Amino acid sequence: MDRVTKSTRSKIMAAVHTRDTGAEKNVRSIVHRLGYRYSLNRSGLRGRPDLVFVARNKVIFVHGCFWHGHSCRYGRLPKSRLDYWQPKIVANKARDRRHARRLKRAGWSVMVVWQCQLKRKDVVKTRLGSFLDA
Ligand SMILES: [Zn+2]
Repeated sequence: MDRVTKSTRSKIMAAVHTRDTGAEKNVRSIVHRLGYRYSLNRSGLRGRPDLVFVARNKVIFVHGCFWHGHSCRYGRLPKSRLDYWQPKIVANKARDRRHARRLKRAGWSVMVVWQCQLKRKDVVKTRLGSFLDA
């Protein structure tokens, strides 16, 4: 069993609402080192993507695994207060899908980087490079 511990869980939850999380900063610095220019949180766009590449028509979301319901161990719902968390996370996932769909319909390419994926920065870097080059 690899359930996250209670203290890990509370750290995850504490980080949930903070903008400019470590994950976002990591992605920004990778993108910056790759040499791409981006703008941040352009308010006119659906779902407020974390990085926006206007000239390339591309956006990147950096998603926290818990809040956005990733299928990894950090995205698991706590057993306590499941009736509280489950509808919230389900609604967030639906909202994320809706935003991505609308952005794509409007001609944007959408990439999601999950918080847990940043444990392998080399892999994320490769993915970011090929997404932004394509
Ligand atoms: Zn994850």
